[in-house]
Amino acid sequence: MKYSQLSLPALEKELELQTIKYNEYKAKGLNLDMSRGKPAADQLALTQDMLGVISKPEDCILESGLDCRNYGLLDGIPSAKQLFSDILDMPCKNLIVCGNSSLNIMYDTVARAMLYGTYPTMIPWVRQGTVRFLCPSPGYDRHFAICQSLGIEMITIPMTKTGPDMDMIERLVKEDPTIKGIWCVPKYSNPDGITYSDETVVRLARMECAAPDFRIFWDNAYAVHDLYEDRADELLNIYFEAKAAGNKDRVFMFTSTSKISFPGSGISVIAASTNNIKQIKSVMTVQTIGYDKLNMLRHARYFQDVEDVREHMLRHAAILRPKFRAVLDAFDKELGPYGIADWTDPNGGYFISLNVMDGCAKRVYELCKEAGVTLTTAGATFPYGRDPHDKNLRIAPSYPPVAELEAAVKVLVVCVKIAALEKLINQ
Ligand code: PLP
Repeated sequence: MKYSQLSLPALEKELELQTIKYNEYKAKGLNLDMSRGKPAADQLALTQDMLGVISKPEDCILESGLDCRNYGLLDGIPSAKQLFSDILDMPCKNLIVCGNSSLNIMYDTVARAMLYGTYPTMIPWVRQGTVRFLCPSPGYDRHFAICQSLGIEMITIPMTKTGPDMDMIERLVKEDPTIKGIWCVPKYSNPDGITYSDETVVRLARMECAAPDFRIFWDNAYAVHDLYEDRADELLNIYFEAKAAGNKDRVFMFTSTSKISFPGSGISVIAASTNNIKQIKSVMTVQTIGYDKLNMLRHARYFQDVEDVREHMLRHAAILRPKFRAVLDAFDKELGPYGIADWTDPNGGYFISLNVMDGCAKRVYELCKEAGVTLTTAGATFPYGRDPHDKNLRIAPSYPPVAELEAAVKVLVVCVKIAALEKLINQ
């Protein structure tokens, strides 16, 4: 029965029962963690052989004769460009293959805009007074950290089932020239697992912006990260939509192999219009002579083409699916009947987004912590760490073994119940 239909004495009785359960878990001295959005060791093992694909000197020479062990090629080796071109559906000429982290290029891209400006105005954003970014939320905390670190004001935009609230976005960017950018994780978003609908993509590509140097930071981190073969989401290519609307310079696209091969030791890419690429290279060439071509080569030799990547991702999915199911089945069974939470059942990506009752997320986080279960900090998925409804919790099922997840989620559901009961009793 839904908790909201229970009488006060029934709620108090239920709280007593759940508290007994909670104390039993607490007494076990657990040490479980559902906060780390990273692959587990058996996923890393899937690409172990990649480390051996270039061992001899001749392995390092490209068809063009270029020796990857030496300086050169600011924008990356052709075969790595081709791989990312197929993953992102972007022409090779619009790509720069970079180093081990897309987050690093995102930071650099914002910093570059702050210092040098962006096409067509080329007026550094820092010289234009207040700079604001739209932040669809819940979202990726590290995007928000970039803004905070560079003094960019953040405006929270609610997420819907089809992407961010487009009515709100269109209204804001049309009126306010200080809004210079928006963060988007358009496929299997972190943490909601939502893929932007075609309509959302088209509206973002076409919308009228007061700032001529407005940019969409399109972080397609989960481009090929389907969990189910028969339920994969499709994402429209925003670059072509923007180009067709006369806004081809509007989009900076990013992705990496972090959750395909090795997080922190993969390769990354930025994709953008010819104007943007030209400007990026003009600054990048001051920063570096070139990124790690040997790692590009390892990736491009190991994954001959995008089909190889897709097959490989099926192996990741096979490891991840039981972990997602362990959490989702427990939520269905233990939370479903009580009407005190909702959650996402994503078709891909790395997270489940759990929404508890308004005003309860911090309490759930604290209760879990006291019982030895670590969650991503409540509020972290919002700008400035402030969830306006204090209800979102990001669950990361990828890293712990299934048995640990099952144990952790048992504690979590009891904490969600206790927080809800306390709220209902005290209101
Ligand atoms: N973008 C999103 C949306 C992510 O969730 C993550 C990692 O969790 C990253 C970027 C980090 O990517 P990279 O390892 O390429 O820096």
